[in-house]
Amino acid sequence: MPHQSTATDHRRTLRLRRQQMAIYSYLLTWGGVLLGIEIGYFDPYTPHWWLFGTTLAANGVIFLLIRSGLSERLNDPSLTIPQMMIGIILITALLHYSRELRGGIMAIYFMAMTFGVFALPRQRMMLMALFVIGCFITLEVWEYLDAPESKIISLSIGHFGILAMGLAWFVYVGGHIHNLQQRSNEQRSSLQAQQRHLERVNQQLHDAMARLEEVAIRDSLTGLFNRRHFMERIEEELARSDRHQTPLHLALIDLDHFKQINDTWGHQAGDQVLARFAETARSTLRRADLVARYGGEEFVILFTDGSPEDIRHVLERLRSALSALHFNGRPGFSVTLSAGLASWRPGDTVDSLFQRADDALYRAKETGRNRLVEA
Ligand code: GH3
Ligand code: MG
Ligand code: MG
Repeated sequence: MPHQSTATDHRRTLRLRRQQMAIYSYLLTWGGVLLGIEIGYFDPYTPHWWLFGTTLAANGVIFLLIRSGLSERLNDPSLTIPQMMIGIILITALLHYSRELRGGIMAIYFMAMTFGVFALPRQRMMLMALFVIGCFITLEVWEYLDAPESKIISLSIGHFGILAMGLAWFVYVGGHIHNLQQRSNEQRSSLQAQQRHLERVNQQLHDAMARLEEVAIRDSLTGLFNRRHFMERIEEELARSDRHQTPLHLALIDLDHFKQINDTWGHQAGDQVLARFAETARSTLRRADLVARYGGEEFVILFTDGSPEDIRHVLERLRSALSALHFNGRPGFSVTLSAGLASWRPGDTVDSLFQRADDALYRAKETGRNRLVEA
């Protein structure tokens, strides 16, 4: 589904942006450390090339894992925990080379913790906080064992206390932010689901409207156009012929002795005949020919193309096709039609065209039925 893949792309973009922010943070810290070395807050022998080089290389690998989509197969596709651990280890190493300003530099731990706030639930944040404390204690103890005389225990305990308090605050507030974000994600996906539902309903409405429009212009028994639609269309076509002098022919068709068919075989048989006539008309006429049920057993056809000769041919074909129809269970039963044909002349109105076609139909009936008469 397309919206799913765009959602995946969107999440990947967010992860890459976060990864980018991490890399900028390292560059900023590197700058800070260089400045610190310069003015004596860091050991002049701080191996900053080595420390930041390996850290940035590790982040580069993570960037590629996210960028290529490989990380999406992992439990934690944003690789937040390894990223944070790398940062925390780097900061611990930097603390080792820091001097009097250790207490201030420790604040950088919170920079690393910030990356967890949006990605990790409270439990994981707690683990990260414990990892920070573990790293810090390891550093302090190792330094003490290495050179006990240079350690001021009270300062170490003070640093530890501030760090523990800060981390506890991060776990508490971070968990809260994480929950808020989770809730807004849920709201967003429920909104998306609602939107998809609305789109579906809208489509169904459109389909229903289209069906209704179709029903409104059709005759239900024969499926042909109804009289109202025909009258609209003939007005349009006549106007077009007036403008462009294009051909237009109107045929009126009346089934012969239909009353007798009804009387002999029943009204239902009459209906069946009407439907069969419609079928025959559909298969005989071209798509462009507009055929409608005018009322009862009377039909109209509008031809917007062809010479009177062509139209005569088409109507003759329809007439003989109808008279050749067989009806199941009624041997010897046949239906014929009479037709009157009028062709458009300059100055014609719908009424005058109908009048001529009607006169022609009358003559067809008069002269024996089952025939076509031209006006
Ligand atoms: P002719 O046109 O050859 O002069 O004779 P006719 O018997 O067809 O003439 P008329 O127009 O008087 O008869 C038409 C009959 O068509 C009358 C009516 O009962 C019947 N009819 C009209 N609409 C329907 C319909 O929807 N179904 C059926 N079964 N009959 C219909
Ligand atoms: Mg009639
Ligand atoms: Mg009739």
